[in-house]
Amino acid sequence: MRIVNLDGRLGIEVKDRFIDLATRSDGRFPSDPMAVFSVWEEVRSWAADQTVVAGDPKIELDRLGPPVPNPTQIFAIGLNYKDHAEEAGLPLPKSPMVFTKFPSCLAGPHAEVPLTSDRVDWEVEQVVVIGREAHAVPVAQAWDFVAGFCVGQDISDRRLQFSDKPPQFSLGKSATAFGPLGPALVSLDEFEAPDALVLRCWVAGEQMQASTTENLIFSVPELIEYISAYCVLRPGDLIFTGTPGGVGSVREPRRYLEAGETIDSEIEGIGRLSNLCVAKG
Ligand code: ZN
Repeated sequence: MRIVNLDGRLGIEVKDRFIDLATRSDGRFPSDPMAVFSVWEEVRSWAADQTVVAGDPKIELDRLGPPVPNPTQIFAIGLNYKDHAEEAGLPLPKSPMVFTKFPSCLAGPHAEVPLTSDRVDWEVEQVVVIGREAHAVPVAQAWDFVAGFCVGQDISDRRLQFSDKPPQFSLGKSATAFGPLGPALVSLDEFEAPDALVLRCWVAGEQMQASTTENLIFSVPELIEYISAYCVLRPGDLIFTGTPGGVGSVREPRRYLEAGETIDSEIEGIGRLSNLCVAKG
């Protein structure tokens, strides 16, 4: 099942068309994308029988919002790929390095990204969407709490992030539209190997990142166990699982985003984000 948010309404994507959940189900299901988690299993079995009919609109990419527009919490993980820790010149973490992206940074899969400084960087990431309340969940049960995955961009203003010591992770990664998410929330059952997804990122057409989530230092179940030992995870909460090597700030020479450049971020089996960088007005 591919959950999408079109003009703020909950729907499923079938063959590039939008099926509006509330309308097609005669009001059985809600129209609020955040309400899908309370009826997740019912929607999943219902969606399996849905086919496109005349009148289902073709999905216009510019009208897609983030599939999870208003989570109560967003967790993000720093240095969770070995090659990224090495390129940053930092030792591998002994436990997950957790920070937050404030939810107001979420943006649609084709949203424009206003650049807040001359040192804004890209980070393609697999994003885990929590499906039900999770507290003190052991690794062996962690997948039961996952609704599915999105592609995410953890866009980062390195000037703000490293403006002082210790660094300022959360604010530097939470400016308006610094969290493109989508294009769909793809349910976990769609993946044959949910722990081995290929992810890539291009800037202005040049490939900058390519890896697989097999390379995560802390796996999705390990992250859920670790975070849920301290925090209650709620339905719709997001975990940005970390970025592989190839970000701009540690390249030789350094490379940052410029207005007019597009960031393309893709995970096989989920889809692609395409975000144009613009000058901050
Ligand atoms: Zn990141």
